[in-house]
Amino acid sequence: MSFEKQFGVIFTNPKLPVLDYRTLDENIEIGSLVEVPLGSKVVIGIVWSAGDTKFDHTRLKQIIGTVNNIKLRSEFISFLKRAHAYTLSPIQSFLKMAVQSLQFHKDQKMPIAYKLNHYDYFQITPRQKELVKYIKEQPAETAQYSKIKKDLGVSLSVVKSLEKKGVLSQIVENKSKQEKMSHEPITLSLEQSRAASQIREKYVENEFQSWLLYGVTGSGKTEVYLNLASERIGKGEQVLILLPEISLTVDFKQRIMKRYGAIAGEWHSQLSLNERRSVFKNVANGCLKLLVGARSALFLPFKNLNLIIVDEEHDSSYKQEEAPIYNARDLAVLRASILKSQVILSSATPSIETWHNCKLGKYHKVNLLKRFGEVYEPRVTLIDMNVEETSKNSWISVPIIDQIRLSLEKKEQILIFLNRRGYAPIAFCTTCRISLECKNCSTKLVYHKTKKCYMCHICGYRVSETTECVKCKSSDNFIPIGPGVERIRDEVSKLFPDATSMIFSSDNLLKGEKNLEEMDKIKSGEINIIIGTQLVSKGYNFPHLKLVAVIDADMGLNAGDHRVIEKSYQVIKQVVGRAGRYASDGRALIQTWMPRHPVLQALLKDHGEKFLNAELEQRIEANVPPHGKFISLIISGKKERQLIDFGIKLKNQFYSLNLHDFEIFGPAVAPISRIKNKTRVRLLIKSNKMKKISQSEVRDWLRNISVPNNIYFSIDIDPYNFY
Ligand SMILES: [Zn+2]
Ligand SMILES: [Zn+2]
Repeated sequence: MSFEKQFGVIFTNPKLPVLDYRTLDENIEIGSLVEVPLGSKVVIGIVWSAGDTKFDHTRLKQIIGTVNNIKLRSEFISFLKRAHAYTLSPIQSFLKMAVQSLQFHKDQKMPIAYKLNHYDYFQITPRQKELVKYIKEQPAETAQYSKIKKDLGVSLSVVKSLEKKGVLSQIVENKSKQEKMSHEPITLSLEQSRAASQIREKYVENEFQSWLLYGVTGSGKTEVYLNLASERIGKGEQVLILLPEISLTVDFKQRIMKRYGAIAGEWHSQLSLNERRSVFKNVANGCLKLLVGARSALFLPFKNLNLIIVDEEHDSSYKQEEAPIYNARDLAVLRASILKSQVILSSATPSIETWHNCKLGKYHKVNLLKRFGEVYEPRVTLIDMNVEETSKNSWISVPIIDQIRLSLEKKEQILIFLNRRGYAPIAFCTTCRISLECKNCSTKLVYHKTKKCYMCHICGYRVSETTECVKCKSSDNFIPIGPGVERIRDEVSKLFPDATSMIFSSDNLLKGEKNLEEMDKIKSGEINIIIGTQLVSKGYNFPHLKLVAVIDADMGLNAGDHRVIEKSYQVIKQVVGRAGRYASDGRALIQTWMPRHPVLQALLKDHGEKFLNAELEQRIEANVPPHGKFISLIISGKKERQLIDFGIKLKNQFYSLNLHDFEIFGPAVAPISRIKNKTRVRLLIKSNKMKKISQSEVRDWLRNISVPNNIYFSIDIDPYNFY
């Protein structure tokens, strides 16, 4: 006879408390994913604690059953708990990423595929013939029905009729069976194998280690960490590689498959539900050894994860700005510390936080300073815009035009970098002297010529390009002010009508296979001139690229926060580093109005470590992170007065805590005062030193703040943005 047990079950909705349920199922224990009744619904829950014996257990509802026998490991639960404790975001929102929904786990239909059996068939319609020919050309003469439908547009009845004739047979594709890593030796350069063995030799089973793999763009950091990854996989362990940009994963996966014979899984928001289900299952059961993913991949329930790699660790896209607010780079380090495994942070331009941790001896550092195959850094030239002239409505200076012309003659590829999407950042009515603004946010609408609209880059609101001025009701008086990538492309087309050009920005990015086709055009050199936003700085490979032109190096330097210099340096350095990765004659031209600025001087002289040390020293001097800590409090709602009052109340509460190592600033209306029709007010807490005890006092206070119903309150620990 089995005993009835009682458990506390937690849900993925932050508003719900832990509720007690009973069960006779002996397999259910803490960490089990379960299906439970909740009100009139059935939902997914996680067995969280032993039940509260005060309850009369006969009145408790019963757990319906486990969800596919999935159980979260205790190590994983402590990771989620500590992620919650650090970020102060509700644990339920992390759990939601970790367990998905009940629907996600139900009705798991494996993708149906059809395989060609034989070619000798009689009485076949032209449509059927077309289908047979198509499948014959597919790998292993097999194709998924969804793909057949997409490519040929044939209905299921055509497929079924061939199945009846025995020409095709249906198979259930189980991708996980193909996962294996080839054990072919990978040839590393001397420098690369030195770096790899440094990390390998320090490896101790069940010991947490955080590594910075520091190497210039093109030094082959990827080869180094893939080499280490393949060793872990060879031992049957799982490896997670985080990438800063979703669109990179397809390209990256192909590279791995080509060179290492491994089939990697991918995890990001662009996957179909079935793909997500398959990856989730194989991550949880340990079949999938290598996962490449966006930041949310960190919250999957791996079976035996033993190495995490964060590629381009400095990249700001690891920071999730909406709830739950967290930094995946920092949480990757946390997860590795709980797993007692290695984490490798890879970058050519490491973040100051990581650099600081290396200096403190918390992180190990391994340098990979030579470019692969003895290639030198691109030659950088600053173009002083105080001296150079450009004609009206033109943004490319004469020296750059001359260099582009020379490069085109030599059949070299050129990248023009401007970190601004669309055609022009502002549209202005010449009669009324007012600009177009978002109706939901306190922002200017950006003109997108290709999309024929004006768009808000914060909330996505858009109006047609034929919109009227609110004052004079005319749509003919708008003029675009300033350049975006589309406008630069127009200028390029006028200057070099015979050159092929392409815009490389998130607006123009295509999904999956289509994206690969576009990338191939760049890789093959078919495209002469690429005009790109920050997206180009995210680890793409441009083998033919020789010349990089930066249109406006000063753009990021006007923001007022402590990371301005670091961010500007990272972006431009990464973009410049794309030039001449595979040859010695890479060149970069940088347009600036501030050629004496430390960022531009550092880029010119290629200081690398010297820059990082100087910047860290400046931060310590100024007493800002990573020396000390920032916590942002963001209050939003309808009425500004009420928000300010609530802010003042918080400030007074904070003062009454009597903490000497902390300061509080605000409340003040945020630089972007309105987003999605909500007014925003900010406070900033600053700690002078990293005092752990008082820090937890701050956290205890923050955790217990009661927020009025009509106010939204969010806490951003280690904020990246201050708008
Ligand atoms: Zn907006
Ligand atoms: Zn007007």
